[in-house]
Amino acid sequence: MEKVILLREGLNQEKELLGGKGKNLAYMMGLKISVPKAVVVTTEACREYFQQGLKLDEITKNKILKGIDNLQKKTEKSFTGENLLLVSVRSGAPVSMPGMMDTILNLGINDENFASLVKMVDDEEKAYEIYIRFIEMFSEIVKGIEREKLKKIKNESISRIETVKKYKEIYLQECGEEFPESPELQILMAVESIFKSWNNERAKIYREINGIDSSMGTAVVIQEMVFGNFNEFSGTGVAFTRNPSTGEKTLFGEYLLKAQGEDIVAGIRTPEKIESLKIQLPEIYQEFQKICEKLENEYKDMQDIEFTIENKKLYILQTRNGKRTPQAALKIAMDLFREGKISRDEAILRINPEMIPQILSGDFCENSLKGAKLLTKGIAGSAGVAVGKIVLDSNRVEKGTDSILLREETSPEDIKGMNLTKGIVTVRGGATSHGAVIARGMGKCCVTGCESIKIDEDTRTIKIKGETLKEGDIISVNGHTGEIFLGALEINRKELTEEFKEFLKWCKEIKSLNVRANADTPEDIQIAKNFGAEGVGLCRTEHMFFQEERILNVREMIIAENDQERRRALEKLQKAQEEDFYNMMKNLDGAPFNVRLLDPPFHEFLPKTDRDINKLANSLGKHSAEIKFRISELKEENPMLGHRGSRLAVTFPEIYEMQSLALMNSAIKCKKEGISTEVEIMLPFIGGISEFKFIKKNIKEQIESLFAERGERINYKLGTMMELPRACLLADEIGEESDFFSFGTNDLTQTTYGISRDDSSKFINHYMEKNIIKRDPFQSIDKRGVGKLISIAKNLGRESNPKIKIGVCGEHGGDPASIEYFKSLGLDYVSCSPYRVPVAILSAAHSELLNPKIPKEIKIKRIKIKLKRV
Ligand code: PEP
Ligand code: MG
Repeated sequence: MEKVILLREGLNQEKELLGGKGKNLAYMMGLKISVPKAVVVTTEACREYFQQGLKLDEITKNKILKGIDNLQKKTEKSFTGENLLLVSVRSGAPVSMPGMMDTILNLGINDENFASLVKMVDDEEKAYEIYIRFIEMFSEIVKGIEREKLKKIKNESISRIETVKKYKEIYLQECGEEFPESPELQILMAVESIFKSWNNERAKIYREINGIDSSMGTAVVIQEMVFGNFNEFSGTGVAFTRNPSTGEKTLFGEYLLKAQGEDIVAGIRTPEKIESLKIQLPEIYQEFQKICEKLENEYKDMQDIEFTIENKKLYILQTRNGKRTPQAALKIAMDLFREGKISRDEAILRINPEMIPQILSGDFCENSLKGAKLLTKGIAGSAGVAVGKIVLDSNRVEKGTDSILLREETSPEDIKGMNLTKGIVTVRGGATSHGAVIARGMGKCCVTGCESIKIDEDTRTIKIKGETLKEGDIISVNGHTGEIFLGALEINRKELTEEFKEFLKWCKEIKSLNVRANADTPEDIQIAKNFGAEGVGLCRTEHMFFQEERILNVREMIIAENDQERRRALEKLQKAQEEDFYNMMKNLDGAPFNVRLLDPPFHEFLPKTDRDINKLANSLGKHSAEIKFRISELKEENPMLGHRGSRLAVTFPEIYEMQSLALMNSAIKCKKEGISTEVEIMLPFIGGISEFKFIKKNIKEQIESLFAERGERINYKLGTMMELPRACLLADEIGEESDFFSFGTNDLTQTTYGISRDDSSKFINHYMEKNIIKRDPFQSIDKRGVGKLISIAKNLGRESNPKIKIGVCGEHGGDPASIEYFKSLGLDYVSCSPYRVPVAILSAAHSELLNPKIPKEIKIKRIKIKLKRV
């Protein structure tokens, strides 16, 4: 592979070798755009530099020198003659990493050729300015000498010539060597230091955040300098072809006359808005506008362009696809399609599904983030941002106030407080812990796993890494990143725009994977429908039990000492459930409604404080000691693997019977009102066929007698949740009896790995840091293990029941990478929290475009070929 390449028209090297900057410069040369000539030291040379232990070998050095020689010839300038060549040395990685690495300007000057520089700029003062800036930049970037040390001297009232001399003395003192006079040596040293900047802290962090491969290295562009500080007809600037913040189609940028690029970055002078160039240098503005159009048409994307005007001549220094906000990305992609520049499919592919939560839920303003104090960082549980007072107890969250509920962990009992609060922070738990799941369902921001927070219930204070805060203090929570800041940061709010709705419509038109929502209330269903959900994939019925007026009945049912008492309590609950189901069915209007029968272990519903125990005792006319005794009877060592899910129906069949009857009564009511329904009754935590058959028989018998009694029939489906490896391995048996499978991937991950989903946050990060696992399996499906079980179960299920409907209702149903995987397995639908529905729709569209469905004819051909081989 080549190590040094002179850029020229028609050069056909990949950006992996030339870097994005080099590749684009060559491309612009082909478009006859005026670009300063340049030579590129390739990424191959950079990789070799690192492999050789930070050493430029003689062969590469000679190639660079040869390249510089060619550049002198090509520009018809030299480091020695009157027609002086100066160069800039810039980084240029294959993937744009704006501002992460270094740049040095004005290389090539020395005491000997300084006179030529004076002649060239026709101004001794200006020439010194260029020389001094060069020494400052070189000393700082190549040798790490603080610029302030040099600038102090500049401020002393000494002549410019003295300044240069003193600068060089400091350089000698600091580095123990003379300032390099040879232009070639200056360039070689600069190339090395740019290579090194590939591994500076900010570049490393940027790569980590953006998932950029750190082994590719950077190229270095050695480019002929053009001078924006020549005279009043010179200048330099940066412009985007569209507004990178809003996406609006207008030139957006700034420039400074009589300045070099550094002046804009340094903020010493306030730059002018690009529109003013129209007045100051109208012809240049027009020419620039045309170039912008040309570049956008060529690259078919918004461009970020750096330019310099040297004595009325416009040069483009670089162009690249511009960084933009998620909102702007959406608008730009849709506009480019409407302008005929890209296809609709391309527009869809340009939006990363993970941008959607940001589009919908706002972000902290960049300005307010600048001085903000970061208290800690946990796991980004649910996207969005929130600012509010810390509240440590769900019961103390007041309606209408801005609060952040901060808990050790949340349980279903916290629902009310969670519903009222702006944001949720938990000390324990991962991305699928209760807090995160519920917060996503509510569209609230949530950060989980903040292990460094210590809550002191007695003093109502919290300690975070040495900082003590009390209940009522204000914090800002970022659910996109997991960060928690002290004080109130400013928020940029977003609306669900017509534009966004239109975009989702495009996605729905091309995707084949159905997207449903996990929804527990008519309000949830409404939100999900607005986002385009095609039904409910999971209604967790227990969430209906926590409403204040119902929890007493639920507790009564649990505390009951015999069937009779239990049935009395269940009757009251049935009425409430019927009302809920009816309202949800009405809202769904015939779309699938998958209802999971009671799943959590009983202890989650029981009172914990003495006050609540007494209240329950009073309402049941029992002694509080009796209640306490019953609570102690129900206590389990490991409730998540204990008496929960369908196991509850084996011991207390009347609970599932009540729920099934409530469903059928509601469906009959709908039928009578002309509302169609598609009810799916789902049994959770099924371990095998005998258990499934036992419960199914009970439910069916009850429903049949209800139909007989009411003289009505409803078509409904009865199926299982797949949450246990045993069920997956025996899915052919279960498939024979089940109308559908819904993979509960939260529990399936928990039971396959043997890792508690509520405790994983304590150690899972260590696994990721140590590269033992790549991603948290509770966030993104573990394809090799859990995925294998899903695949086995799907194949077995379809073998025994070709009509079986198969979906996913765990949190993975809203994760783009997992959705792509589920689509590749040929599942029918995914279901996720209402606010993730648009993410899932876009991901489903992406997976359709990236793995197009094989047309039937081709499939048949393939099968025939296979058969022949057999
Ligand atoms: C699951 O386990 O994936 C699931 C959806 O159920 P829950 O999260 O309620 O346990
Ligand atoms: Mg589950």
